[in-house]
Amino acid sequence: MSEPLRVAVVGSGPAGFYAAGALLSADLPVEVDMVERLPTPWGLVRLGVAPDHPNIKAVSRAFERIAAQPGFRFFGNVELGRDVTAEELARLYDAVVYAVGAQTDRRLGIPGEDLPGSWAATEFVAWYNGHPDYQSLPFDLNTERAVVVGAGNVALDVARMLALSPEELAPTDTTDAAIAAIAESPLREIVVLARRGPAQAAFTTPELKEMGELADADVVVDPADLEGAVGTDTNSERNLEVLREYAGRAPAGRGRAVVFRFCVSPVAIRGTDRVEEIEIVHNELVADEGGNVRAVATDRRETIPCGLVFRSVGYRGVPVPGVPFDDAGGVIPNDRGRVAPGLYVAGWIKRGPTGVIGTNKKDATETVELLLEDARAGLLARESDERLESLLQERGLEVVAYAGWEAIDRNERARGEPLGRPRVKLCSWEELLDAARGVGVSR
Ligand code: NAP
Repeated sequence: MSEPLRVAVVGSGPAGFYAAGALLSADLPVEVDMVERLPTPWGLVRLGVAPDHPNIKAVSRAFERIAAQPGFRFFGNVELGRDVTAEELARLYDAVVYAVGAQTDRRLGIPGEDLPGSWAATEFVAWYNGHPDYQSLPFDLNTERAVVVGAGNVALDVARMLALSPEELAPTDTTDAAIAAIAESPLREIVVLARRGPAQAAFTTPELKEMGELADADVVVDPADLEGAVGTDTNSERNLEVLREYAGRAPAGRGRAVVFRFCVSPVAIRGTDRVEEIEIVHNELVADEGGNVRAVATDRRETIPCGLVFRSVGYRGVPVPGVPFDDAGGVIPNDRGRVAPGLYVAGWIKRGPTGVIGTNKKDATETVELLLEDARAGLLARESDERLESLLQERGLEVVAYAGWEAIDRNERARGEPLGRPRVKLCSWEELLDAARGVGVSR
């Protein structure tokens, strides 16, 4: 049998795992070393997907099956650029696949965006999901109105999490700090601002429907916003049906309300020491020749008093040191996943922050097909036979191997079990590394 192809996959979210899975089921022998900055795998499945969506999080079982295959190794707690460079990986491996996602948020570019109380949705999501880098963020939910800017599924996640009752949050793996803050908050209204119309909203229908099924929150839609709206595709048509049903509802006097506003854009966030209000402008919709519908500002403005703003207008990729980057697109420039023979990308850093988890399977498979094509064409050759573990060992670095993650996983599940929760997450680097240290560092 020929010498296995050695591939490093950087990033352990869905794109990384699907790339690893495609590589390990190839018709030539492949070894996959997955390099991850955190001690824990699964990327946004662990730290992004809303905790009240256990069915979506269950995709992690597929990742566990991939990790159990011979040839797979996990190198957690290894940060690219700090612990190992892109150049070193290129030397040690026949091929490197970057599946690092989109690590930051897009900005609104309006005054007041950085006032205390104005948050990127990504920060709030990481906080309530127990990401160890976000636990010290001072989320103060002591306000009666929060505004969520954006009409995508992340905006709905944030709005819904703020609207969930303690009973709905109790059986989830939301952090205790977030459950307490949401329960104790005097929030009455969560306003979702969409810059275009209801037919152009990016959120998907099942997520929109969920908003109307919350135990202690009403959903409010102004029928006037739906007048003349025509669906542009199946999702948009179904969204309109659901929104029409919401518009016909009389508020049931529940504790909180999620209020949808369409054709409005924020122009300024204001407050003396922290957010006190957001100014919005009303938009009209203009279709260009290609049929794209744009929001164009009118001169009608309005001010909404609020103590919190969550900016949820999309994620953005950040450069990987030593790897080309397209700053305008926030992606690593590539052709179907190939940057150059030996250097590949998968997931959001390849195509931008769109699509659902499953989209990454097709995406990663496309990349891996090109990688294997290059391998068969004899285009891949590592410069060194040195192994990553010896390089990291020489540097005195502590790697969390897959067995270390499994120890973290057991610990968290055991903490959750008596409470009827899937897990109680370890939320600090110290706790995570301590739990991982219960076992050796090599698999
Ligand atoms: P998204 O779906 O791209 O939505 C971004 C939203 O922000 C759009 O409504 C966009 O409006 C709006 N926006 C952009 N720039 C704006 C600006 N300057 N002012 C006001 N609004 C602005 O992104 P996302 O919500 O971050 O989600 C990322 C991906 O993850 C999506 O594919 C999403 O479906 C997926 N996701 C799925 C789930 C799930 O399946 N449950 C959960 C979370 C995320 P325009 O359309 O007008 O540009």
